[in-house]
Amino acid sequence: MRAPAKRLARVIGLVGSNPTPSATLGSRRDRGTVMDTTQTLFNLSALESAGWQSPPRYYTWTVGCQMNKADTERLESAFSQMGFLPTTSPTTADVIVLNSCVVRQSAEDKVVGTITSLKPLKKANPTTVLAVMGCMVGPNQERQLREKFPYVDVFMQPQQYKPLLDLLGERLDMDWEGCVGTLAPLNPQVTTYVPIIHGCDEMCSFCIIPYKRGREVSRTIDDIVAEIEHLVPKGVREVTLLGQTVDAYGNDFSAKTDLADLLEAVNDINGIDRIRFLTSHPNYMSKRIIEAVASLSKVCEHINIPIQAGSDSVLARMRRPYSVEKYLSIIETIRETVPSVSLSTDIIVGFPGESDADFEGTVRVLEEVRFDKVHTAAYSPRPGTIAWRKIPDDVPAEQKQLRKHFLEDLQQGINADINDRYTGKSYQILIEGHERGRWKGRTRTDKIVFVDSDTDLLGKLVTVDIQASGPWSLQGTLVRQ
Ligand code: SF4
Repeated sequence: MRAPAKRLARVIGLVGSNPTPSATLGSRRDRGTVMDTTQTLFNLSALESAGWQSPPRYYTWTVGCQMNKADTERLESAFSQMGFLPTTSPTTADVIVLNSCVVRQSAEDKVVGTITSLKPLKKANPTTVLAVMGCMVGPNQERQLREKFPYVDVFMQPQQYKPLLDLLGERLDMDWEGCVGTLAPLNPQVTTYVPIIHGCDEMCSFCIIPYKRGREVSRTIDDIVAEIEHLVPKGVREVTLLGQTVDAYGNDFSAKTDLADLLEAVNDINGIDRIRFLTSHPNYMSKRIIEAVASLSKVCEHINIPIQAGSDSVLARMRRPYSVEKYLSIIETIRETVPSVSLSTDIIVGFPGESDADFEGTVRVLEEVRFDKVHTAAYSPRPGTIAWRKIPDDVPAEQKQLRKHFLEDLQQGINADINDRYTGKSYQILIEGHERGRWKGRTRTDKIVFVDSDTDLLGKLVTVDIQASGPWSLQGTLVRQ
């Protein structure tokens, strides 16, 4: 007989806002279930036959982008609503989930290494469920992955949690769909990521994401606002709205709705102090969105807008549908409209056919724009992408590394210069954590600031005087909280 998980979990406060309780505690024993010392309820015989602890423990491991981290948090929310507890080691887990990234070869190598390292554990404990989710698992790839990793129990595409939850429900004799409500993080950080648009329609020639995450699907404004309102009482003060092309938000709706509308709605939520969004695509960075950044009080003056290369011919081969000139004109509009803005970008060096002259174009863009942050990656062909199929990877690995290091050195100097201008001034920062004995917060412009205080500052907006700076962070003293 199935445990009435939805009703019982609700009574003991394990579920989100959706399910409605209707059971009484007295009915539990009648249904052959037991309550353990942590007040979690399971069908004991199902737990025993699964060979799991009571309550069962889960372990998650995540690599890759913020979207992956957000996906893991949502799966963890489902686990918790089903009564599972987290554990810090795979050796003490009944369920292990690896959330994978294959955007770069180094990330894929890490994932393969981690799956392989768990083989002995899985052999020693065959009842442990091992699941792999995320970008390694594309549509129609399961058979191939099963052949390579036969000891993995479940493969799930990004955000497709159902196969694992079905398996766990079966093992626990539990109606998980009745148990699991809103998939919002249960213990969110002060600054939390909220996915607003899934997938990507762009098909950049180097990128595997559209093949793994599918077409763009925006969540409704009501849905997103409800999730954020749910997060506020849990201590969240800042949200970063996430999407692979976040500024394309709403393009898939029939009614005219865009990121500016969503920013306005989130700006009205009581308890939220700051709003950011990530990652923008130059094609969708409209004047309306830029004006929303300028006018909405909670939207931070920071925009991440990847250019990827400073050469039109490389951009064309990358299938990035803009020119360097167009990109620079967007930057000009942003700076005119939001004068205090900080800008960050992503660059790929060594894309096939990138000549010295092409690379010099990228150097010029960095010198001209003077971004606050640049993420540089050396191109690595990803199987299945257009570039992998059609464009020979002809820039030698050493050349890629030389170019990457050149840009990193150049940007380090620019960072140091920009950050130096913060010294001697006061800024409001939101304290989001404690690191190496100091409080860590960020300015609205996304500068990391460290500050000393014996008071608990977590989640507080405080004013600091900046005393010193380096390329990666600022040091401040507390003025007031
Ligand atoms: S915009 Fe291009 S790089 Fe970004 S996720 Fe989509 S395809 Fe990949």
